[in-house]
Amino acid sequence: MYDVIVCGSGPAGMAAAITLKRANLNIIIIEKGTPGGKLNEAMQIENYLGFEENFGVNLALKMYKQLKGFNIPYKTAEVTKVIKQDDNNFLVYTNDAIYETKNVIWAAGSINKKLNVENEKRFIGKGISYCAVCDGSLSLNKNVVVIGNGDSALESAIYLSRICNKITIIMRNNKLHAEEYLIDKVKNNEKIELIHNHEIVSFNGNDTLEKITIKNCLNNTIKELLAPFAYIHIGFIPANIALEEFDILDEEKYIIVDKNGETKIKGLYAAGDCTSKEIKQIITAVYDGTICASAIIKSI
Ligand SMILES: Cc1cc2nc3c(=O)[nH]c(=O)nc-3n(C[C@H](O)[C@H](O)[C@H](O)COP(=O)(O)OP(=O)(O)OC[C@H]3O[C@@H](n4cnc5c(N)ncnc54)[C@H](O)[C@@H]3O)c2cc1C
Repeated sequence: MYDVIVCGSGPAGMAAAITLKRANLNIIIIEKGTPGGKLNEAMQIENYLGFEENFGVNLALKMYKQLKGFNIPYKTAEVTKVIKQDDNNFLVYTNDAIYETKNVIWAAGSINKKLNVENEKRFIGKGISYCAVCDGSLSLNKNVVVIGNGDSALESAIYLSRICNKITIIMRNNKLHAEEYLIDKVKNNEKIELIHNHEIVSFNGNDTLEKITIKNCLNNTIKELLAPFAYIHIGFIPANIALEEFDILDEEKYIIVDKNGETKIKGLYAAGDCTSKEIKQIITAVYDGTICASAIIKSI
């Protein structure tokens, strides 16, 4: 029986775990992927106080090293389901085990949205990627496409412009929805071209991606682009499927929490990007994790 199970080891989960462990609670972190979560996809972090390097992966490593220093039990597995029992404790299911705990902190962040167009699934890992920082080196000196018009898309394009030949950003409308400094960098980068008012129809090729069919949203004209690599950045969906049977999600499936990070289910807390909140950043994820952990410590 644990005092707390922390699901996810992004900034929110790691901050929560360190706070809990310092209060000597019996905890475990369960993480399905890489410690640091979305930090591993960030090329340029300029706004996290005290961190002057750029790459998110370096911050992820620093956080993980700090976590390891507290000897916090850490299990690599995907949490598939959380249920509340009659005795008010929770069962947390993974692919290969079931854990019992008095409290849960859900800090599972979000996953990259898919376009859901023809052949997208088929070419994932064969030309299609959702993370330029992770896979960009595969497209060294190539002409590549970035799909999307937000912060992540622009960040990707800027990163790829250092290693690729040419970057074409395809966007459905004609406005970039990103921070001004990113927009400036994109506009002043001669390797980056913008194609406005177009959407993706299909990805095409034999074994790997070769061409992308796009449609002009204004006049429905179809055209093909030669592109062996496409990086899709069209937003995120919260990673909350394991909690869907609790009635705690808003209409976009983000978790609704109170000021302590607790849901309306007593003992079930949530922190970070998976929650319903306006500002989704590293610093707010760390804040959320710390707030949940502190509330649990008080309640115990
Ligand atoms: C390209 C990019 C650039 C960014 N740049 C910045 C920036 O410059 N500044 C800034 O402040 N923020 C930036 N962000 C946002 C920032 O990375 C996030 O706000 C932050 O990482 C959220 O932390 P989190 O812990 O809530 O979630 P995440 O970092 O998403 O971590 C969630 C963790 O939970 C794990 N998980 C998910 N589901 C399960 C499950 N079922 N079982 C077990 N584990 C699970 C995931 O594998 C992941 O490790 C950027 C994000 C991206 C994508």
